Parts: sequence; structure tokens; C-alpha cells
Amino acid sequence: MIRFLSTRDAAPAVPVSEALVRGLAPDGGLYVPERFPAREEAALSAPADDLPGFAAALLGPYFEGDPLQSALPGICRDTFSFPVPLVFVPDASGRIRDTAVLEVFHGPTAAFKDVGARFLAACLERLPGGDRIILVATSGDTGGAVAAAFHGRPRVQVGILFPRDGVSERQEKQLTGWDANVRAFRVNGTFDDCQRLLKETLAAARTRPGAVWTTANSINIGRLLAQTVSHAWGAVAYRRARNATPGFIVPTGNAGNAVAALWARAMGLPIREVMMATNANRAIPEYFEAGTLTPRPPVKTLANAMDVGNPSNMERMLHLFERDPSLRQAASAVSVDDATIREVIAEGPERWDRVWDPHTATAIRARDLRPEPDWVAVATAHPAKFHTIVEPLAGRPVPVPPALAAILARPSRAEALDPRLEDLMAALEPRS
Ligand SMILES: *Cc1c(COP(=O)(O)O)cnc(C)c1O
Repeated sequence: MIRFLSTRDAAPAVPVSEALVRGLAPDGGLYVPERFPAREEAALSAPADDLPGFAAALLGPYFEGDPLQSALPGICRDTFSFPVPLVFVPDASGRIRDTAVLEVFHGPTAAFKDVGARFLAACLERLPGGDRIILVATSGDTGGAVAAAFHGRPRVQVGILFPRDGVSERQEKQLTGWDANVRAFRVNGTFDDCQRLLKETLAAARTRPGAVWTTANSINIGRLLAQTVSHAWGAVAYRRARNATPGFIVPTGNAGNAVAALWARAMGLPIREVMMATNANRAIPEYFEAGTLTPRPPVKTLANAMDVGNPSNMERMLHLFERDPSLRQAASAVSVDDATIREVIAEGPERWDRVWDPHTATAIRARDLRPEPDWVAVATAHPAKFHTIVEPLAGRPVPVPPALAAILARPSRAEALDPRLEDLMAALEPRS
């Protein structure tokens, strides 16, 4: 059995389902696998047309001996109900040769957050226990993915907290287009007020009888394990197509998805190196330049899901580098500013016949910075999510994918809430 340790090394190692339920380790650290099983052979011999089967084979060792072991194939079918295609695109000279895009945005809310959120929901649904209340504070893509993933599932209530003036119209529709077990609270305050309210509420709920209160933010181990699958799938598809080992370029904010790529590499998957592409928030590139991580106040950019000044998953990355310094050698980071993001989007139709979303655009530019061949740029969002930015720059309309259109067509329902603990608990607690 592979257990999960805390990055702070002061909490007991636990099986995967316990790490999933807890979210944060009791010593305040983040859960990481105690070791990485070698999965290259299993991944390369899996059928090329069965992503859920591939996922179950890849993650199998983490679930061995866990209460969720026999449920893993069903969890993977539930999660990967949409494709994750690897699409080759032309390089700078216009030839299709050595650069591919891994489209991880074909889920219901059109960003890669669907992968982790759906996996977490599928796991929690299959674990015994009473009612759960899941809170998420969001200013962007996470809330919509969590709402879509948990909507309609039994024994779970979801409360989404979003700042009154902090989300775009289309993002707000994804947070508020739900009913029954998913409720959206438009908080009279900022994103920081939402996060503070969430933390206070979880702390207060710990001592109360009844439902278990938890959060589904990006620190949950379930989200990272599922994201390891999409990177592994892309790496295997590249190897099969080109018989080469590609570098991965990951648009990066909180660095969860980049850690997942490094974990896939640690499991032996054909990933040569991992380059993180950040926006103007430079904490991670500065870490690679200076050797120390210095949190910065976040800067607002066009790639708003990456507007992070203090990336929470760097704690996992530093822990990983300590255990295996060779992985530090295989990792790098570059920063791409808004002017460059605009440029990449504007030249997208002519140069690649594509409209890039602002997040993916950072990875596309990062590809141009390196002369070596064989790269996979991870496309984290569908451009239709950011139509107000990309359509004027690219000069073409972006059709909305059907799953996203279905969410946008639902009636919006949000409840106004002052950022006060009593008000939120009164609103969400099951009435008896
Ligand atoms: C969340 C997000 C990112 C950043 O992912 P991290 O795991 O936080 O680094 C990049 N692109 C999009 C579209 C996102 O929603």
C-alpha cells in the first residue's frame, strides 16, 4: 500500500481515501505520496482508446488496500467522461512537426479544473459517512468545476462563495446556474473576505456535531492524482505518435498542475522536463532564478486563473525537490506578460489556425523560447470561456462548446451574503 505523507512531516501517513477526506494534513501540510510507483510499462501498454482504463491502471498502486480500491475503475469512468486529445500544431516555420497541444478543457466547464473536481466528487460519493458540506471560495474556474462535479450527487451540499464584483459574467453563470444541492453565495466583499469566511467556517464546524464540513480547493490530493493521469495520457500519446520524449509546458498559477506533471515524470512516464509558464506573477520564475521562494502580492492579468502571488502547491514542489534533486534539474519556469499574451492570441489564427485562451497563450509563447524539439503545451481552458478577451484580438468568433452552452443556458440563482460566519452556517446547516 502506498500511503500519503504530509509535506511538513509531522502528521501520520494515511491511506489515499483518508487524505482525500481530510484535504489538509493535521499538521497544516499538504499530502504527497510516500513513494512513486513505476508506471511506464503499464501506461505504454494500455490501449490508446480507453482513457478511463488507462487512468485506473496508472493510479492503481495508490489505491491498493484502500477502501476505494474496487471502486477505482468506476471513479475513473465517472471522471474521464470526456476526451483529452493531443493535437499537433505547426511550429514557427509553419510545419507540423514537434509541438503538440494537450487539450484538457473538454469537460463540462471547459477548463482542466473539471478533471480534479470530478475525480474528487466521484471518490467522496463512494466513501461511507454521513452528510458532507463542501465549501469553495472562488474567483475563477475552480468554483464552476466543483459545482458541476458535485451537482446532483447524494449526501452532499455545496456552498460556493464568490466576491460580488470579482468574477466575469460568464464565470458567474457557471457558479450560479445550479439548484438543489449546489448553492451560490454572492458575498458582499472581496475574494479575500470569501477565503477568510471559508476558513472561519471550517474551523468553527470542526467542533459541531452532524454533517462533515470540508473544502474542495486545489490542495486536495484527489485533484492532483487525476491531473497526473492527463499528463501521462498526453506523454504516452506523444511517444506513440513521434517515438520521442516530450517536454511539458504547463500554464501555472498555484502550481498544482505542474506538480502533477512532475509526479507523472517521477512515475517513469516519458516526460523529458517540465517548464512552467506563469503570467506576470513571477514568484515561481524568481524561485528558479534565486533559489528561494518569496511570496508576492498577486497582480491582475489577462490569464486570471493564474493570478497567484503565493502559490500553495510550491510546498509540494519543494518537498519533491528535496527528495529527488534530479527533478529540480528537470524543471524550469518562465513569465509571460499581458502584452505578450495579447500578441500570441492575435497571431493565433494566422500562425496556428487556432484561437488560444489567455492561459494557454503563456505556454505557446514559452515554446518559442526554446530551440529543442518535442514539446507538449498543456491547453488549460477553452477560449470560449474568455471570449471578451480573445475574440477582439483574434478577430474571429469562438463557438461555445455544447457542455458549456448548456450551463450558460441555465437560470442563475445566487443568494446575497454578508461575510459573517453565523450567516453562512445558518444558511447551509441541514435543518432538522
Ligand atoms: C487553475 C488554472 C491554471 C493554473 O493551474 P495551477 O494548478 O493553479 O497552477 C491555468 N489555467 C487555467 C485555465 C486554470 O483554470
